[in-house]
Amino acid sequence: MLLSKNRFYVNQINPIKQAKLFLIFGLCASFCISTAASDSVDTTRILVDKLTLNSYKSTLKGLTQFGDRRQGTARNRDALSWIEQQLVEMGCDNVERMSFSYNPEPRAPRVRKPITNQADQLKTPTGGAVGRNGIGPGGASIYGYRAETGVNREASAQPDERIRLLNAEQPVNGERQQVYCTKIGISHPDEMYVVGAHFDGHGVNEAVNDDGSGTALVMELARVLNAPGVTTERSIRFALWNNEETGLNGSKAYVQQRQKLQGIERPAGSGKFPEPRWLGMIQHDMMLWDHGAPRADGTVSAEQRPEADVNIEFQSNSDLAIDSMQLAFVFKTAADAYNTDYPATVGPHMTNTDSTPFMNIVPSISLRENERGAHTGAGWNPTWHTPLDVWTTFSDKDFRLGLNAAQTTLSAISKLAGAELE
Ligand SMILES: [Zn+2]
Repeated sequence: MLLSKNRFYVNQINPIKQAKLFLIFGLCASFCISTAASDSVDTTRILVDKLTLNSYKSTLKGLTQFGDRRQGTARNRDALSWIEQQLVEMGCDNVERMSFSYNPEPRAPRVRKPITNQADQLKTPTGGAVGRNGIGPGGASIYGYRAETGVNREASAQPDERIRLLNAEQPVNGERQQVYCTKIGISHPDEMYVVGAHFDGHGVNEAVNDDGSGTALVMELARVLNAPGVTTERSIRFALWNNEETGLNGSKAYVQQRQKLQGIERPAGSGKFPEPRWLGMIQHDMMLWDHGAPRADGTVSAEQRPEADVNIEFQSNSDLAIDSMQLAFVFKTAADAYNTDYPATVGPHMTNTDSTPFMNIVPSISLRENERGAHTGAGWNPTWHTPLDVWTTFSDKDFRLGLNAAQTTLSAISKLAGAELE
């Protein structure tokens, strides 16, 4: 049975291990011994407390200086250099770039109804009520009212001139690059979790939600886990993918180039593993917007819905569905214990993001604001690939939802990788 092949529970979820006894003999001598039991420290809580709304917002705001970071442009390459520099400053070791080529045939332009202004995005004509099974991407069911979705390519649809000019350059074919850095495990440097998000975006905007919100989350986790005094038993790779929006090309290239290198020690006897064996892949894509379904008139609330949550998804059609489902519930358990404001739920239709190329190789999940197949695909998010995906659209409630997703992954990955404080 698949359960016997479980690769990520081993020696990892142990609450007792998390409760370290604090014995400072030099300071309090005999008094400490009698009170030691009450001085237990929750390492995960200490790490989660290092995530703050201000820091998350500041990293995310930094990404907006490069507009929509569309692949194949200078603004995409400049964003990559900035991310790389940030990872170095955060103390993340072994910052590496990986290259691949992207040379698609030119496509005939799609005929789309032009998006004329931002107000139209919140008043899109509805497709009407639907209630059919399995019609969404990844086998999701879509119920209720749908609103129109699509990628904006019209510069004139962006009312902010500064953002319009920032995004003027069009992509050209050629080499692409993406970046990752790695926290090396102490006792198991040859095994790792991959924590990812895509830094490219599109839509003539600032790609705040898609996917600056996931990119900033991964960078914030890199900051916390690479701070002085933090160790992990297993390795963690922080990966910022390129070309997600053109068809997951960056993550596909990573799997193609590096799957075969897993667990190989190079040079032999060095104790170094350029590609530690994959234990799990956790993707973050669109973390901020949970405002509910389109209404009957096709509009979407400008306010967050009271039921806002973090959606953790696995793919029920993947070869490793049961392992991935178990991984998803490890994350939900962590969210229940450590999220400060929002709950997390588990769903079975992970789709259309960089965890897909991994899902038949290693347990894989994605974290999102909404279920991609059922909700985002039905038009729940009017900022999705539109001129509305800019800083000023989002409130602190939205940013806080993203922060809670960061709390989920940080707490789960700290336990899975065996984080300790020196
Ligand atoms: Zn995305």
